[in-house]
Amino acid sequence: MTDFSIDDALWDTATPRRPAPAAGGLPSGGGLGALPDIISRTWGIHRLRPLQAEAMEASLRGRDLLLVLPTGGGKSLCYQAPALAREGLTVVVSPLISLMKDQVDGLVGNGVAAAMLTSAQTPDERRDVYEALEHNTLKLLFVSPERLMVDGFRETLLRNGLAALAIDEAHCISQWGHDFRPEFRQLAEVKRLGVPISAYTATATARVREDILATLELDDPAVLVGPCDRPNLTYRAVQRTDLVPQILAVAKRHPDQAGIVYCISRKEVERVAEALSSHGLRAEAYHAGLSAERRNRVQERFLSESIDIVVATVAFGMGIDRTDVRFVVHGALPKGMEQYSQETGRAGRDGLPSECVLFYSAADFHTWKSLLERAHGEARHEGRASDADVLDQGIERVRGMLNFTTRFVCRHRQLVEHFGQELELGEAGCGACDVCLDELEEEPDSSVLAQKILSAVVRVEQRYGAAYVTNVLRGSKNAAIQAAGHDRLTTYGLLEEKSMAEVRAWIDQLIGLDHLRVQGDRYPTLYLSPTGVELLKGERDVRLFALPKSKRSATAPRARAAAAEVVELSDEDEELFERLRALRRQLAQERGVPPYLIFNDRTLAQMASVRPASRAEFMTVKGVGEKKAEDLGEVFLAAIAEA
Ligand code: ADP
Ligand code: ZN
Repeated sequence: MTDFSIDDALWDTATPRRPAPAAGGLPSGGGLGALPDIISRTWGIHRLRPLQAEAMEASLRGRDLLLVLPTGGGKSLCYQAPALAREGLTVVVSPLISLMKDQVDGLVGNGVAAAMLTSAQTPDERRDVYEALEHNTLKLLFVSPERLMVDGFRETLLRNGLAALAIDEAHCISQWGHDFRPEFRQLAEVKRLGVPISAYTATATARVREDILATLELDDPAVLVGPCDRPNLTYRAVQRTDLVPQILAVAKRHPDQAGIVYCISRKEVERVAEALSSHGLRAEAYHAGLSAERRNRVQERFLSESIDIVVATVAFGMGIDRTDVRFVVHGALPKGMEQYSQETGRAGRDGLPSECVLFYSAADFHTWKSLLERAHGEARHEGRASDADVLDQGIERVRGMLNFTTRFVCRHRQLVEHFGQELELGEAGCGACDVCLDELEEEPDSSVLAQKILSAVVRVEQRYGAAYVTNVLRGSKNAAIQAAGHDRLTTYGLLEEKSMAEVRAWIDQLIGLDHLRVQGDRYPTLYLSPTGVELLKGERDVRLFALPKSKRSATAPRARAAAAEVVELSDEDEELFERLRALRRQLAQERGVPPYLIFNDRTLAQMASVRPASRAEFMTVKGVGEKKAEDLGEVFLAAIAEA
């Protein structure tokens, strides 16, 4: 299907097209042939990423489309650019006002006639949008799914040249997805009006993809699934020992850079945010228990670079378009691999090396399990549908997540395989995860060690929890142990020379590998799974890792190499880069927009290293389109000339 009728070389040219006469505005319509020109003039992008050309072609040919590309893969360009190349109006459905606002601000900044209609606008603002609609001056309109379903609205759109519908965050359509939004399921109504639909998402398993196609009733759609790996992210999963110092160590590797720390509970969010602040970090808390006003303020302060770190529950994120997030920390196990992928996906959207560290404990599995069970019970109690399947699936997801942490298998590979893809790995592995970087030290004689632990569990008749078993193995003089006569067991004191933290860590790993299981809520006790029994009998092997070493380098070599478009900066360039960042912050403040809407880090880095001296040179910098060159060229060129 790649009979892309444009000379491919066009996409590869490093020199932008000659600037158009300023008064003429942007070309509208023009079809497929006009695309390269439109993209290079509007966005300063001269080369497409994988699948972008295919997706745009399908969309411009009026074909239905599902495009799955990882976060930062460049999905928005795939509906924004065709919208400019086709006659009429393209409507984009998006689940969050903040997402729409970001896109509209970005588009308007690039000189595109885009607007949104939301409940957060004043009646006057909405009337202006309706007027623009009636006068056919808009190319792109962003709306929520609810608005699209309002009576008469679709007819209004049709009357005013509705030519295509794009659905962002399309995984919200599927109840198998992790952000299910029932309103999304009604979007097929639009399909019945004969308008081509394109759907976009970053996280979709095969099942979710099928669900999206079926629900939207897409007609012979082009289904394009990009490689879901994020090579610029370095993943680490580390056993949680003392969370705050562990987070501080990560933050220290990224001084003055943006980061997000996720915790399960609001209380934990508050605690961690306070601890980080008391260590001099610019961190604030964000969770659903805070007022909307407060939440907005935190979000705004993060976007405007007034703070560096947001400590949050998963309530924070979907609308966060700060592209230079350099680290994402999970203070506990996420709810599942899809959520993990989505949450870590917020790191490094600009393609630069970034780090994701997950601090876990097997106890998190239990916490999630009881939370899920409670939610299930409440739903039943209130007569809402919640079948046992849904509960089981929820628990399976958390188990999958725990498994991810405790296996000696490349993290990139595990994630990619979860989404039904494969990852080609060389001898040295991915080079961007703790497993492949050899940061996880394997415990010598892991299997023997595991047998000692499993045997202790059996000797106490599988009726005690991890803390008790640990005490038995370490030969504790605990009164309860003596009273039960467990100090006379052959396993008593077998791991005397090991620390409590170490033994607990191995038990956690055995749970994560599903050799040990936990039952009971109030007094969770350990018992052996069938594979645990095999392991105890010596019929299978296991690999356990030692507690983490504390020193780590910030980003892995592959992550550096993978971010192919990274500009290596000399010290002098670095200085200029910092000055340009300050200029950006100042301009952003004056204009009341987030800094990344001015230019992103990568564009600034290229400016600092290329040091353009003229408007023409300025326009060769990736990320500089005509509108921006006009708006910002002078002030940036002056700053560069001063250096
Ligand atoms: P997604 O929606 O897939 O998460 P975005 O559309 O936000 O990703 O794109 C991420 C960043 O990549 C944006 O800053 C965008 O301008 C940039 N981008 C998109 N396509 C290209 C391209 N072909 N070359 C360079 N940058 C691109
Ligand atoms: Zn790896």
